[in-house]
Amino acid sequence: MRTVEEHLQAVLTGVLPLSPLEVTLVDARGCVLAEDVVAPWPLPPFDTASIDGYAVKAADLLAASDGIPAVLPVVDDVPAGYRASVELLPGTAIRIMAGAPMPEGAEAVVPFAWTDSGMPEVRIVRAIALGTNVRSRGADVPLHEVVARAGSILGPREIALLASVGLGSVSVHPQPRVVVLSTGNELVEPGGGLLPGLVPDSNGVTIAAAVQEAGAIAYRVGPIPDDPAPLMSTIEDQLVRADLIVTTGGVSATAYDTVKEVLSRLGTVEFTTVAMQPGMPQGHGVLGPDQTPIFVLPGNPVSAYVSFEIFVRPVIRRMLGHQRIHRPVVRAVLSEALPSPAGKRQFARGVLSIEDGRYVVSPAAGRGSHVLGALANSNALVVVPEGVTEVLPGAAVAVIRLDEV
Ligand code: AMP
Ligand code: MG
Repeated sequence: MRTVEEHLQAVLTGVLPLSPLEVTLVDARGCVLAEDVVAPWPLPPFDTASIDGYAVKAADLLAASDGIPAVLPVVDDVPAGYRASVELLPGTAIRIMAGAPMPEGAEAVVPFAWTDSGMPEVRIVRAIALGTNVRSRGADVPLHEVVARAGSILGPREIALLASVGLGSVSVHPQPRVVVLSTGNELVEPGGGLLPGLVPDSNGVTIAAAVQEAGAIAYRVGPIPDDPAPLMSTIEDQLVRADLIVTTGGVSATAYDTVKEVLSRLGTVEFTTVAMQPGMPQGHGVLGPDQTPIFVLPGNPVSAYVSFEIFVRPVIRRMLGHQRIHRPVVRAVLSEALPSPAGKRQFARGVLSIEDGRYVVSPAAGRGSHVLGALANSNALVVVPEGVTEVLPGAAVAVIRLDEV
């Protein structure tokens, strides 16, 4: 029997971030940048009017007042998206809209409120300082400045900056494509109606959702019967589009050996027991010409989900290029007694909350590996060490937060 750490170490060995790929900014959301990015353009890329008004030379308004306005001919009119067709000469003004490039020779933009909004001649009642209402080229981001570092995670704010400095795509570690496959003669498509003996393939949709939540792309397949031929051909077909395969079912000691038999023909997959509850039986290895990693998770829905969280999710996060691959762990006060099996690390479902400024965790009512109602109501896994057979109320426990990245 392996410890959780030993199995985790084994499944992470050799896992690297996927090779960088150039993707559009929209597709880059959530991805990890593969290289530093420098601004190919400054921001703003040209001196820009920041308000609607009149572009002027400051010297022409030195004496302007309510009593004696400066009167200037308006020689051009520049909406955003256009450029002035003439240079601004002393003694003239150009009407300009916010976002338009400053005309050659212009020094400031007078807001409409200081004027009579006149055309083709404007009266201006105040003096203005050089540079007022102008955003200078490069003031926000100078040319060739590093705007994002390798390893940073691209969200809307980072993407806003990348787009603004003129980029349309960036080099990221792409999202792994994860094939999720369920095996079991009893399984039927969820929502398809149930006859006695049949079970909805909840693992397929659960693990696919968990894969997506981890940041990867899920391709759900199945359910596949416990029969070597269809399982073999399905896995062979799926290998071409998989960076990782996750199957559930058929690994417990009493299960039919279909999965083991097929996988031993397609690659090197090791079946082990891990000292944990739930999730003891675990299969892991590589398949096919590209040595595609595969996880064979136990079929019990809670076991499958917990196994995914503890072993598969960190692998996906590493493929995505993340530095932090594990969920955050906090210390919490246990609200009621929690028994635990000797010699196994227990991951008990629980509800984590904050009471009087400290974390408190309540174990979920149902503890069996099949109890999904309790899983759905929980937001955390209480970790009870191998050597402990009971944790008393009030004791501090480590808690994995399932609702935090
Ligand atoms: P197995 O690992 O195939 O022996 O399955 C153990 C238990 O989990 C059995 O009660 C199965 O019916 C159940 N099970 C297996 N696969 C799934 C699945 N994809 N969705 C829901 N329950 C499953
Ligand atoms: Mg089965």
